[in-house]
Amino acid sequence: MVHFVGAGPGAPDLITLRGAQLLKNADVVIYAGSLVNPELLELCPPQVKIHNSAAMDLEAVLAVMEQAETAGLTTVRLHTGDASLYGAIREQMDALSAKGIDFDVTPGVSSFCAAAAALGAEFTLPGVSQSLIVSRMAGRTPVPEREQLAALAEHGTSMVLFLSAGLLPQLQEELLRGAYTPDTPAALVYKASWPDEKLVRCTVGTLAQAGRENQITKTALVLVGDFLGKEYERSKLYDPAFSTGFRQGADTNSRGD
Ligand code: SAH
Repeated sequence: MVHFVGAGPGAPDLITLRGAQLLKNADVVIYAGSLVNPELLELCPPQVKIHNSAAMDLEAVLAVMEQAETAGLTTVRLHTGDASLYGAIREQMDALSAKGIDFDVTPGVSSFCAAAAALGAEFTLPGVSQSLIVSRMAGRTPVPEREQLAALAEHGTSMVLFLSAGLLPQLQEELLRGAYTPDTPAALVYKASWPDEKLVRCTVGTLAQAGRENQITKTALVLVGDFLGKEYERSKLYDPAFSTGFRQGADTNSRGD
């Protein structure tokens, strides 16, 4: 059996209880060495065999999994954050299915959640934005034409950009071609939840400069949108006048959200 496990954003106590338990029972671990905190490997039993996937291609990863399976061993494939975002797990799962090897997936705390936590931010503020766009600049992995950042930026909604800290001047330009203005709040979050975490608040107009001044070129997220500003409306859910299925408010309006 192969268990895909989200390691969380970095701090070793941000893995889920289930993920930690799977590491405690693992015979073989393949971890994404570039971003997974190696402290997590201390959870593994002493006889565990550990592989760092930073130096492996897909075929090498699959070969380790297949060998372990033949030997009746349990493998944990440890991915950074949550594996459903830029985790390249689909190709592994499809290959395992084709080989008849069982697997399951344990979610993790994605870095975009850790970044919001570090900033004390809420992506979905009433009266500001009720949507979050998760995207990236095109790098060696292309982004489909219809998802070009300038087009996504037309919505002016809350946005979080992965894998783009090395392309801040281009990113800034793309964002400004959309609905954001040079004054729209933005933030760079470097290594959220790690000891050397860095938070840099700026605006869309000063994004590239902020990255340059703080020497942030990788392992960072870019957060953009008015949710980082000061203005918002109170929630309806906790409004004294508002009734829900759980609470009778001053009005007779009863809605489930
Ligand atoms: N699956 C991961 C993302 C992997 S892609 C997740 O859910 O977080 C790798 C990119 O994620 C990095 O280039 C960076 O943009 C972002 N990232 C991962 N961990 C991070 C962290 N602790 N702080 C800030 N950004 C992080």
